[in-house]
Amino acid sequence: MKKIVTIVGARPQFIKAAVLSRIIADNKEIKEILVHTGQHFDANMSAIFFDEMQIPKPTYNLGINTLGHGAMTGLMLQKIEEILIKEKPDLVVVYGDTNSTIAGALAAKKLHIKVAHVEAGLRSFNIKMPEEINRILTDRISDLLCCPTENAIKNLEQEGFNNFNCKIVQSGDIMKDAVEFYSKIASNKSTIILDLNLEPNKFVLATIHRQENTDSLENLKAIFKGLESINKKAKVVMPIHPRTKAILDKNNLKYTITFINPVGYFDMLQLLKHCNLVVTDSGGLQKEAFYNKKMCIIAREETEWVELVENNFAAICGSNSGKIEQAFEAFQKLNLDFEKPLFGNNVGMKIYNEILSIL
Ligand code: UDP
Repeated sequence: MKKIVTIVGARPQFIKAAVLSRIIADNKEIKEILVHTGQHFDANMSAIFFDEMQIPKPTYNLGINTLGHGAMTGLMLQKIEEILIKEKPDLVVVYGDTNSTIAGALAAKKLHIKVAHVEAGLRSFNIKMPEEINRILTDRISDLLCCPTENAIKNLEQEGFNNFNCKIVQSGDIMKDAVEFYSKIASNKSTIILDLNLEPNKFVLATIHRQENTDSLENLKAIFKGLESINKKAKVVMPIHPRTKAILDKNNLKYTITFINPVGYFDMLQLLKHCNLVVTDSGGLQKEAFYNKKMCIIAREETEWVELVENNFAAICGSNSGKIEQAFEAFQKLNLDFEKPLFGNNVGMKIYNEILSIL
């Protein structure tokens, strides 16, 4: 039986890997070894996802976190290489754009092990973002590039990927499968709407955690100014990322919006289902808003998910409090068709078959 090693480390990767791991387990054609780098380690940023989504327990947990980018990526590279030498897999699967992604891809490639990159071809064209650096480099050394959108394919073509020895496929967005599969279960299991006493369609779901926002107090304060003004009209609920919380605490910044600890995926899906709209600088949440038929205010200067903005499902507001307020008002009046097929379907199965085809 062929063997693959899957590398995960951060919250969005657990969600994406859950989809493919389930298919791999159901089909019994490949053996999967799961490596958790430990990049996210708090129980509500890691363990809860494995429990709720029934992701197999990682065979290896490297416990690498709270280090600078260089030390973290370097240590991951070293430890993943040791595992790959021992396990001798036929292929390594990496997801998204974190330090765990590039470390996994690099370790595999140097050992001449095939690499499949799920969520390939995305570009923000902001090379200062650590995520952009990770995804460009990972794409370049991957053998199978599973692109979520046509735009992602075009990005790769523009960078000359047609000249490289790799397979590029338009698989669609694997997070769509996750939303579809887990939403029903979440409706039965999560009680968060009742627990927080939230009125459906009367509250706004917000998350802020990107380095470009948390590293700049000016940006952070402006985004929170926008959120505070929305909060006067609709309760803003923010599951707060540990990094953002640390910065607010350190600078003694106090706000009236409703802060809650990071929540599990089931609670998140319920919050998405019942909110009025989403304000976020997260990549994944922008699409999850769309899958839940919700508009999204993007608190960044650009997005990799340009289809959402082109079709008016999302607005780029950066850290401009005025734009954030305006977008909130404008979105109350819009009535859009969320059935547009922007991100594919049956994505996990497509990726699974592509992986089988190159093993
Ligand atoms: N998420 C979650 N609980 C939270 C915040 C986010 O389950 O408290 C989920 C969210 O629904 C999405 C993923 O985590 O599926 C997004 O992760 P994040 O924003 O950390 O990363 P990004 O998508 O920006 O890479």
